[in-house]
Amino acid sequence: MSAVWVASQRYGLASAPDGLALVQDFLNTRGIEGYGADLLADTASAGEWAENAVGAWSAMRGTDVRPPALDDADLAKLRATRDTISGLVASEPPSGRGVGPVSAAFELTDAGEVRLEPSGSGWRWLASALWGEILLGQHADTWRRIKQCHNHRCGSTFYDRSKNNSGVWHDVKTCGNAANLRASRARRRAANSAAAPE
Ligand SMILES: [Zn+2]
Repeated sequence: MSAVWVASQRYGLASAPDGLALVQDFLNTRGIEGYGADLLADTASAGEWAENAVGAWSAMRGTDVRPPALDDADLAKLRATRDTISGLVASEPPSGRGVGPVSAAFELTDAGEVRLEPSGSGWRWLASALWGEILLGQHADTWRRIKQCHNHRCGSTFYDRSKNNSGVWHDVKTCGNAANLRASRARRRAANSAAAPE
């Protein structure tokens, strides 16, 4: 089975490399008006998202992991975790400790590779997988390339592949041009009102 990151894909986003794709997909579970619903709004859609995302993540790592079962209490924790991670991406100072610590386990593969394995059940398992990938991304220096589109009506999470990591739009053609157009209209309005006689 090839990896399909459904939450990111529905917004037309290329996936981040390695395990950061899981973090990106998790952040893209948020709804964007006119484009997609919040996939963590109810247990049915959250369960379906987890099935796909954990399937893709597991396929990428060459393992066979089942997604955790999620109930309403898990969803509230997952949404809070999403807010905390979103804040990190937006470079906001972490408020308090978010939803609290979760555990992970070290495992040694047959190839002699040390792996950080998620542990716990429900939301904790997913949070454990997400924090593990963020940790790896921070050490690989790829984490700072995870960004949220500056178009506030969009805000989708993308991986910035620009040379100097200067991207601010998930897609310059759509969100970037719309913003530039608004800015140039505003400048023109300002210029017109300044030039208009009283
Ligand atoms: Zn955008």
